[in-house]
Amino acid sequence: MTKQVLILPGDGIGPEITAEAVKVLNALNASDGLDIEMTEDLVGGAAYDAHGLPLSDETMAKAQAADAILLGAVGGYKWESLDISVRPEKGLLRLRSEMKLFANLRPAFLYPQLADASTLKPEVVAGLDILIVRELTGGIYFGQPRGIRVLDNGERQGFNTYVYSESEIRRIAHVAFKAAMKRDKKLTSVDKANVLEVTELWREVVDLVAVEYPEVEVKHMYVDNAAMQLILNPKQFDVMVTGNMFGDILSDEASMLTGSIGMLASASLDENNKGMYEPSHGSAPDIAGKDLANPLATILSAAMMLRYTLGREELAVKIENAVSKVLDQGLRTGDIYSEGMTKVGCREMGDAVVAAL
Ligand code: NAD
Repeated sequence: MTKQVLILPGDGIGPEITAEAVKVLNALNASDGLDIEMTEDLVGGAAYDAHGLPLSDETMAKAQAADAILLGAVGGYKWESLDISVRPEKGLLRLRSEMKLFANLRPAFLYPQLADASTLKPEVVAGLDILIVRELTGGIYFGQPRGIRVLDNGERQGFNTYVYSESEIRRIAHVAFKAAMKRDKKLTSVDKANVLEVTELWREVVDLVAVEYPEVEVKHMYVDNAAMQLILNPKQFDVMVTGNMFGDILSDEASMLTGSIGMLASASLDENNKGMYEPSHGSAPDIAGKDLANPLATILSAAMMLRYTLGREELAVKIENAVSKVLDQGLRTGDIYSEGMTKVGCREMGDAVVAAL
């Protein structure tokens, strides 16, 4: 049956990079029987300009009805002074929370051809292949109560609540163990169990879930040590699982080991593996509309969509191999350019991937 994919290009470079991913998906529709139908809609600042909201109810309904969503990026200077309730990012948060996308998968994979792009020594990062599984709809970013209150002495006090229930920990742990089973069967769970009770429970529940995956080797690590180990010896990691805030920080750190934000894909999944796929980077307003953006993170996000939601692993691999091939050919957008390579724009890079398919 034809699968429905909603394309939400968003703002800044969003429309340019999603156009290249759509080209790749169209090519697979034509040559490999991918059989998806794509419709496009507005999110972020573009939606605010059209409807006064960063995500209209109609678009939300289309997202709920679609099999998968491919998103570019949202935000930009133009909308920075808007009230926080209608800022472009709110469109993204609404999609994540109403679709219950609790599992965020962010691979930090370094293509060997780009080992020089990292700020770390090539021998430390060559062959790097980490998958960070971050809980996305709970933890301190959502915990209640929260706010800023005035104390009896007139001083203001800010407060947030770090909370996880057993069921929230259990479901994200299952996602991480299943991912580890498909990879090197090594899982590192990151917490701060020496200080925070909520992560003491996290550790206990991860150990309980581990019993169901006896083949997976489990390690627990405090978040401060994990941040250090990612720089010291990142290749020790296969899959890492952690809560919302630690995952936010560690996944950005891990992505920078690869030195190239324009290469990094991500997936946010619900209980049934329905998902939203987007590059890890933002809308890059500084280079928007100039045909300078690297579309590979979005194209690789489309590959993740084929793998996790649309059940077409062989086509996901086909896209990933095509990306590797264009890198072998020496084609580079500005963000991953090094001397001796051929500099190309966003469109030319997309065309090269289609040709390499
Ligand atoms: P950014 O990721 O947009 O850009 C950081 C730097 O990386 C910029 O120099 C940019 O030119 C470069 N860059 C990013 N993606 C690139 C690509 N594909 N190819 C080449 N270069 C690329 O982060 P920022 O500058 O902090 O934020 C810009 C806007 O994006 C803000 O409005 C922010 O709120 C928004 N943002 C959105 C998302 C999202 O949609 N998921 C994520 C992060 C930031």
